[in-house]
Amino acid sequence: MLKVLKFGGSSMASAEQYAKVKAIVEEDGSRSVVVVSAAGKRNKEDHKITDLLYLCHAHMKYGVSCDSVFGMIARRYLEIRDALGLKTDLEGALDRIRADMENGMSEAALASRGEYLSALLMADYLGFDFVDAADWLRFRMDGTVDREWSYEALKNLAKGRHIVIPGFYGSLADGSIRTFTRGGSDITGALAAAALDADVYENWTDVSGVLMADPRIVEDPQSIPHLTYSELRELSYLGFQVLHEDTIFPVAEKNIPLNIRNTNDPSHPGTVIMEHFDEDAEPTDERRFITGIAGKKDYSVVTISKRGLSSEVGAVRKVFEIFENNGLAVEYTPNGIDSFSLVVSGAKLEKVLHSIVSQLEEKLAPDEIQVTKDLAIVAAVGRRMLDRPEIPGRIFSALGEAGIQIRLISQGPREVNVILGVDGKDFATAVRVLYNSFVK
Ligand code: ADP
Ligand code: ASP
Ligand code: MG
Repeated sequence: MLKVLKFGGSSMASAEQYAKVKAIVEEDGSRSVVVVSAAGKRNKEDHKITDLLYLCHAHMKYGVSCDSVFGMIARRYLEIRDALGLKTDLEGALDRIRADMENGMSEAALASRGEYLSALLMADYLGFDFVDAADWLRFRMDGTVDREWSYEALKNLAKGRHIVIPGFYGSLADGSIRTFTRGGSDITGALAAAALDADVYENWTDVSGVLMADPRIVEDPQSIPHLTYSELRELSYLGFQVLHEDTIFPVAEKNIPLNIRNTNDPSHPGTVIMEHFDEDAEPTDERRFITGIAGKKDYSVVTISKRGLSSEVGAVRKVFEIFENNGLAVEYTPNGIDSFSLVVSGAKLEKVLHSIVSQLEEKLAPDEIQVTKDLAIVAAVGRRMLDRPEIPGRIFSALGEAGIQIRLISQGPREVNVILGVDGKDFATAVRVLYNSFVK
């Protein structure tokens, strides 16, 4: 039995949190591979070390001293070490970082040092070996991970040892450091689990699993005991931010269960995410028809109206081509008889709006082009919704009773979700109304 564990920023934020991590790891002898994030916030007003490292690099870029910011970073780690009574040579590591900074260290290399310092400390504290991510996690020039190379390298390095690995970064073939996008330590954990054919990938954070709605919108939402990989993909895409959205692929490929757990409540079973569940084996009170309520804000809708549009051969292709040429991904496309709408990211549309409108006018000669800003998407996701014809009706009446206008509806024949567009100002209310009508 081999378990790979990843601890997020809040689990690495202070000496007290390190003690919780140690207790969790030592409780189970198969918890032998630990991936760590940089120290996160200890409270709402606190700073994430990674943010401070990016800030430091911005100072360097403009030739401004970053001594005070670097001092904050150094102090945080030294404080944790001293409170735990460790002898880790952090001074040496910090001096090397300062020297590299003098020599024009890249932004990625500097940003990665939060995870590096966390891993040095945690390895010392647990009595595990430190294995640098730069020695096995190989990026290609295009930013994708060379999994084959990386898996082989980690297998050779790990060899049955108990190890701690820094998350978030790896290296290119020339040895230079490259990071994932923000929140990427989740991916490092998934890659380590896949490389070592782990029995489970435990992702330890500050909530008891994937919650049915964003806890910053809905008060104390229930946690979801079971999810399939595809439901989690769907929920992540639609706005759940509990895991980096690329976390799923490496574990799904090897069918390794992903268990999201709470460092501050370790006895809670959290959420288990797998390819498939035996539905009949699940307790009936867990057989909810809605798995989660997700949503995202800041979309815009471009509506093209023209008499006879639906019978004009090739019109839709021309519209898509124009959006494609402008590098704009189209999320949803509700249409009427004489009109066709495209839902896109508001911020991205803003940059190419003039170009898109002028090309649409030239190629389609429409009667009207309308742009509606500030649309939010709210979605109910659930694999059991397919068997429940009454669900969409319940969703509409709940929102109607709350006085929320529905601007857009999208549901495919085999979809595990119902997607609705509402005005941006109604976003949080819509999420709460749906949560309360289906869960409470
Ligand atoms: P970590 O530092 O452990 O990687 P993150 O801050 O990246 O943790 O992710 C966990 C946070 O995700 C939670 O604290 C919570 O505020 C937020 N979150 C948003 N939506 C959800 C959801 N549906 N379920 C659980 N957490 C969510
Ligand atoms: N420390 C990095 C970030 O803040 C990576 C992570 O925490 O997963 O984005
Ligand atoms: Mg995270």
